[in-house]
Amino acid sequence: MVKFLDLQAVTAKYAEEIHEAVQRVVDSGWYLQGEENRQFEENYAAYIGTRYAIGCANGLDALIWIFRAYIEMGVMQPGDEIIVPANTYIASILAITENGLVPVLAEPDLETYQIDGNRIERLVTSKTKGVLIVHLYGQCAYTVQIGEVCDRYGLKLIEDNAQAHGCQFGHRHTGALGDAAGHSFYPGKNLGAFGDAGAVTTDDPELAETVRTLANYGSAQKYVFKYCGRNSRLDEIQAAVLNVKLKHLEEDIEARKLVARYYINRIVNPLVTLPKVRDWYAHVFHIFPVRCPERDRLQKYLAEAGIQTIIHYPIPPHKQECYKEWNSLVFPITETIHAEELSLPMSPVMSDVDMELVVNAVNAFR
Ligand SMILES: *Cc1c(COP(=O)(O)O)cnc(C)c1O
Repeated sequence: MVKFLDLQAVTAKYAEEIHEAVQRVVDSGWYLQGEENRQFEENYAAYIGTRYAIGCANGLDALIWIFRAYIEMGVMQPGDEIIVPANTYIASILAITENGLVPVLAEPDLETYQIDGNRIERLVTSKTKGVLIVHLYGQCAYTVQIGEVCDRYGLKLIEDNAQAHGCQFGHRHTGALGDAAGHSFYPGKNLGAFGDAGAVTTDDPELAETVRTLANYGSAQKYVFKYCGRNSRLDEIQAAVLNVKLKHLEEDIEARKLVARYYINRIVNPLVTLPKVRDWYAHVFHIFPVRCPERDRLQKYLAEAGIQTIIHYPIPPHKQECYKEWNSLVFPITETIHAEELSLPMSPVMSDVDMELVVNAVNAFR
């Protein structure tokens, strides 16, 4: 059987170092807001290329804290509009609505699946305060055009980097391209912890301080509360694991790219559309998405051949029950992607045999 993602094997690759790091925390008697967290924040900020990284409980919280901090800072207020791709994981949108801000959904490009820069400017109104780009599937969504629109209208550019740790735009990493970025270290992400974990990166000292305070009950000084915050901290065991895995992130990305190249060079099937890679530095293949007009039949066919696949994602946000008010809106490109997308097995631990099985099975589909 070819697993979609064999997390046990991913962990086994660095087992010794990870066991040592976890044991160190267990033995230390210090489990929150300690040295591991401090080191991870320093290491991660240095890696991404920002002045600050602030650990928090998960990726959704990271995004929530960015918008909440902008509200506390007076940069945004409830009712303001944030432009966001219509085809994203629900968390990107939840972070906006959670803060009483209004998501304005933008169609993606059908070739790259990333927010279409040509459509953003038309969506700007007097209420627009920001653009949340999502580096979906691990590919860079940022373009010079998007940066220019944000500059022209004075919009905050926020990145959802949950799927794209290590992805580059030129010489810069995603997560350092805009004003702030939210990162997830959910176990299945390219940089994954052993439970929930996340971080915010930014160069802005006021934003960094506000996010840190909000995620710690709204307290910057013990027992003194500036905001009605929440408990959303990164714990020491997760930070220790992330310190180990961050060291190996680049080699894991290279391994993912080998799988992607193998698929791209060998999958030939008129029924299957391969992902378009703008630039090999600008894609870290969190996911290898193909499209097929008969997606469900392809998924079943591959399952029968012992190949696990996942759909990212079967229902677009505007068709979800939680956003009933948008259910009648029509986003044809987004809907096509959600109807046709299928993610093939992708991880840094796939064997040559696994890759060959996937390619042969996809090519044999009629
Ligand atoms: C995973 C993910 C998130 C949320 O991260 P969690 O750590 O699971 O809360 C946000 N946005 C995108 C695009 C994601 O893939």
